[in-house]
Amino acid sequence: MDCGKGESLKMKNDVNATHIVPSKLAAVLEKAAEFHGHLGPFLVIGVRIGLIGLKEISKHNGEQLTIDLSLPLHVPFSCIIDGLQVTTHCTVGNQKLSVRDSGSVKARFIGENKGVEVMIALNKSTFEELKFQLLGESIPEEEVRRLAWMIAEISEDKLFEISRTTRTH
Ligand SMILES: [Zn+2]
Repeated sequence: MDCGKGESLKMKNDVNATHIVPSKLAAVLEKAAEFHGHLGPFLVIGVRIGLIGLKEISKHNGEQLTIDLSLPLHVPFSCIIDGLQVTTHCTVGNQKLSVRDSGSVKARFIGENKGVEVMIALNKSTFEELKFQLLGESIPEEEVRRLAWMIAEISEDKLFEISRTTRTH
């Protein structure tokens, strides 16, 4: 799939259609798609990882955040990077996000005082299914967007495996 290609964004229309996506998430997705250039399932995965990680880490007051992200370093998977950057403001540029090539998708959120860590891994079967649907042949933009909204709707515990660690000093 060609990541950058695609028609102009029609997010608002999508939101008003049949999708059951919380309005807060829909607003963040709109911002992410504007930044990234299009809406696709892996951008949504990045946004959702970012929102979960922020929620988890901010439970612990005063934590500054860094993130280690592992993923296949090519499109469409690399779209995850932008979703994560938009939501967390941890970026490759400010060196709060480090990115490494991997066969699976997972993000480790680290509280700056190293007291708190959250690991968010993309569910293996969801990942395999998306690869199957996206990498086979060139698929229409509408189908990519449909998959994106499907990912936005899946419950957190079906999409990810989340593990939390609190280290004592
Ligand atoms: Zn993309």
